[in-house]
Amino acid sequence: MNVKKYTVTGENLFGLEEFDTGDTGGLNSSDDVKKMMKDNIVEIAKLQDRLYAEGKTGLLIIFQAMDAAGKDSAIKHVMSGVNPQGVEVVSFKQPSTEELSHDYLWRAAKALPPRGKIAIFNRSYYEDVLVVKVHKLYENMNLPDRCKGKNIIEKRYAQIRNFEDYLWENGIVTVKFFLHLSRETQLKRFLERIDNKDKNWKFSDADVRERKYWDDYQEAYRSAIEATASKNNPWYVIPADKKWYTRAVISNVLLSVMKKLNPRYPIVTKEQEEALAESKKKLENPE
Ligand code: ATP
Ligand code: MG
Repeated sequence: MNVKKYTVTGENLFGLEEFDTGDTGGLNSSDDVKKMMKDNIVEIAKLQDRLYAEGKTGLLIIFQAMDAAGKDSAIKHVMSGVNPQGVEVVSFKQPSTEELSHDYLWRAAKALPPRGKIAIFNRSYYEDVLVVKVHKLYENMNLPDRCKGKNIIEKRYAQIRNFEDYLWENGIVTVKFFLHLSRETQLKRFLERIDNKDKNWKFSDADVRERKYWDDYQEAYRSAIEATASKNNPWYVIPADKKWYTRAVISNVLLSVMKKLNPRYPIVTKEQEEALAESKKKLENPE
């Protein structure tokens, strides 16, 4: 699968309408990707093992989307094969009082992956240029007046770009997924959540409230993606109307990113080899 068409590197102006939410890459059903997904999961797990052993690169994977786009199930599926010791999933909800008393990147910085590990952000500091922009939440924040200018969001784009460049230059690689859902599919999934008792827990009134701001959110996503996509820290705009295809594309993107990182097991030196041989001898012939 060629993931290039879903990759946004910021060289061109960016419009979401060029990305079809219902795209399935010419495939018909989940059966067409079953084998590939299985193989990908195995490959990703192998690469994760090497990433962990090498201990040089941290991998930050960000999921952003409108409600019901399938973030949770995408995370569950794609990471199903990896060693849980090397991965942490962090959800970014409405900030707590403590979080609000800090700069907005604080809670993200605390959750960054150490070298060798993967951190998955279910939502992220991008909320601070999305929901915060749509509802102008910055107006009521406890900030000095000089920090609450009209261009606060533009400034945050630059801060985020710099933050991600800083991470890149320090060996933390950021991969950003936007699950691109149509308004109709969101409605369909909300109704399913209401009609299906087992899915009731997933539904919240807040989702209906936010849906009214659909266009504002789309524009906020468009402009955030345009402003923060770069060659080193690209965005991937993933069609999200068909969950099986969403997961297939995500797993291919991750695999290609991790292959490019090319993590390697540490090389065993001559001295280490000798020490290992010595240990083996002792184990086999205890005194
Ligand atoms: P799900 O609904 O699948 O459980 P979710 O990610 O939508 O997952 P919720 O608890 O429903 O989780 O929503 C979290 C809410 O917190 C979102 O509406 C999001 O916009 C909001 N949020 C996250 N970060 C911030 C922030 N910095 N400022 C204000 N609201 C935020
Ligand atoms: Mg929600």
